Amino acid sequence: MGRMDGKVVIVTAGAQGIGRTTVEAFAKEGATVYATDINVEKLNELNGVKGVITRKLDVTSNEDVNALAKEIDTVHVLFNCAGWVFNGTLLETQESDWDLSFDINIKSMFRMCKAFIPKMLANGGGNIINMSSAASSIKGVPNRCAYSATKASVIGLTKAIAADYIKKGIRCNCVCPGTVDTPSLRDRIRATGDEEKAVADFIARQPTGELAKADDIANLIVFLASDESKLISGTEVKIDGGWTL
Ligand code: NAD
Repeated sequence: MGRMDGKVVIVTAGAQGIGRTTVEAFAKEGATVYATDINVEKLNELNGVKGVITRKLDVTSNEDVNALAKEIDTVHVLFNCAGWVFNGTLLETQESDWDLSFDINIKSMFRMCKAFIPKMLANGGGNIINMSSAASSIKGVPNRCAYSATKASVIGLTKAIAADYIKKGIRCNCVCPGTVDTPSLRDRIRATGDEEKAVADFIARQPTGELAKADDIANLIVFLASDESKLISGTEVKIDGGWTL
């Protein structure tokens, strides 16, 4: 028996990193998981995994979101994972960087929730988990101006949804990781030009002395999606190795 037997789950940005590991964790717990992403080639690596259905979905496209909503009538869990880091201070951020950050990181959640909350309501409830970050309203982090503004908005959106729908059986929480060892983190580390120092610096800022693995975050998300957490809604859960203590 899995904790998610009989549940239908949708995950955005499911092709790599935290999204991919969470898709696999939900499937292992018995769910039917719609793994979605813009990167179809990576997504296709999940074809054949028991319980996983892959679909191309760009979270900035209403057309893609509406097409998926047409296909799926019953959904129990929505994990809005898609996000993108624009690296820069306020003065280094162009209006186009700001707008793209908001489109991918938060308006995406508005779109997905608009499409799938009605289906959850028709089904008597549901569960939404949004991806925020420690770099948000929780902590000021250098060179993360637009990113942190979007991730703070995720916390606000999460609480608003939780408040509006708690009496209708929908829970909504968000997770706030510190540094997680994922492909895009490795890209950022390489871009510094001194990989060894960059890794050491990332590790040094988390007092537990290690980077999170995607598994660590996936375990938390499955817990928040399961009935084990049935009394938890409207929270931002920090999972950052003590970075923001
Ligand atoms: P990643 O950055 O390695 O991969 C991101 C995935 O998102 C890719 O598969 C990419 O194709 C997909 N994607 C990008 N734009 C998309 C779009 N428009 N529509 C659909 N999919 C799109 O993954 P990650 O590092 O695990 O990050 C996942 C989430 O976790 C993001 O929201 C990120 O901000 C958040 N997060 C990551 C860390 C970290 O240290 N890695 C820390 C805190 C929060």
